Amino acid sequence: MPTRPYLFYGLTNSICSQCLEKVEAKIIFRDEAVYLVKHCLTHGREEVLIADDIEYYKLCQDFIKPGDMPHHFNTPIERGCPYDCGLCPDHEQHSCVTLVEITDRCNLDCPICYADSGAAEVSALTDKNRNHRSLAEIEQMLDAVVANEGEPDIVQLSGGEPTIHPEFFQVLDLAKTKPIKHLMINTNGVRIATDRVFCEQLAAYQPGIEVYLQFDSFEEKALRELRGADLRQIRQRAIDNLNEFNISTTLVVTVKKGLNDCELGKIIDYALAQKCVRGVTFQPIQVAGRLEGFDPKVDRYPLTAVRRSILEQSPHFQSEDLLPVPCHPDCLAMGYALKVDGKVIPLAGLVDPSTFLKLMPNSIVYEQNDTLKKKLFDLFSTGNSPTMSAVKMEQLLCCLPLVAVPQGLTYENVFRILIVQFLDPYNFDVRSVKRSCIHMAQTNGQLIPFDTFNIFYRDGAPGAHLVAKVKAKL
Ligand code: SF4
Ligand code: SF4
Repeated sequence: MPTRPYLFYGLTNSICSQCLEKVEAKIIFRDEAVYLVKHCLTHGREEVLIADDIEYYKLCQDFIKPGDMPHHFNTPIERGCPYDCGLCPDHEQHSCVTLVEITDRCNLDCPICYADSGAAEVSALTDKNRNHRSLAEIEQMLDAVVANEGEPDIVQLSGGEPTIHPEFFQVLDLAKTKPIKHLMINTNGVRIATDRVFCEQLAAYQPGIEVYLQFDSFEEKALRELRGADLRQIRQRAIDNLNEFNISTTLVVTVKKGLNDCELGKIIDYALAQKCVRGVTFQPIQVAGRLEGFDPKVDRYPLTAVRRSILEQSPHFQSEDLLPVPCHPDCLAMGYALKVDGKVIPLAGLVDPSTFLKLMPNSIVYEQNDTLKKKLFDLFSTGNSPTMSAVKMEQLLCCLPLVAVPQGLTYENVFRILIVQFLDPYNFDVRSVKRSCIHMAQTNGQLIPFDTFNIFYRDGAPGAHLVAKVKAKL
């Protein structure tokens, strides 16, 4: 009797990448990798690589913990996931990070823009006008986050390019009146590089703000392919200005397989050498918006591949450092190091390696030590303001008898690596999307997971007609 050439691990719901209709999907293990296998009645069988490290994929399940609930939900459960966003009461995680898109316009025209932003007033993709949000609309979005979260951990002003909003500093003033713990500015850095007065004004808003700076590559070819322009000088000038004013900065790298995936270690080294930089976020490309030059079958680069590349290219992080984030383990991974007196001390280096390994899930020590477990979960959680990272790390280190906690640990000593994988019509998994904790604020008070927003809910989204169709049947 023959045996199947794969292991059937589980069952979930997904969507067909062609028509976006809901389909059942098997999760299978084959040849050291994890695949979603779907069958669409119209478009047939589809197989999508979702992880290339089975052990890490299974480890993610050990990091799941009960989700935190927002103060209230915004939509009823009527049509089933993903047609009830949101957040509907069936969503399993609160908003760790909420994006407030304050403009559709941009001073770049990146070929990979998930938001289909650009310099032209009208989008060639959707024929929709590109507008700046009014202050009243922005306040509605900020209030939506505050209503759900009370004191939101992280709000990102995004777009488009938020720094070209004509009332940008009034937006910051407005946001500062809300009980937001940490405000990030999601930017391509062009204005920061070219407008020193702007930087000086921005610095006055510290502490509690952070620049989330697009920083994909040191190579002209990669920058032209991802951003449509050679931004090397712009990037360096932006970093120079951010260093001068010591404005907390996270570098954000959009990773494309075979293009800039060989630069991850170099970017980490560069980031560690910059006074202003607190960490690097790596995001493999999500199939969304205006995505040119990307073949989902060939170019798919899952979180596990990004993680492996970092481990291969950077001496600072070991496998036990880059862990699943408990809020949404299969889509977020995080690693910590300390920058102390010009030296980099990775978290694993702070404890005896054998002790640290025992802290990992499934070990007797880890499972029995609830305090340690909670502190490790707390540290590796995006559900805390980044400024709290130093405090969390100090608390964790105090639990470890072998560790002398560095004196006067502050946010400037913390260096954080985050890998963020978004779901798209190919890797979409309903089990996973229900834990999504990166959400989009809406003027109608709703908060919609970033993943479903780009597929179904953004103005002109490819699946918007399906949500309307299901709604019409009710
Ligand atoms: S993704 Fe979340 S908010 Fe949206 S329908 Fe599913 S459970 Fe509800
Ligand atoms: S990806 Fe960012 S920088 Fe590029 S066009 Fe879109 S909003 Fe602008």
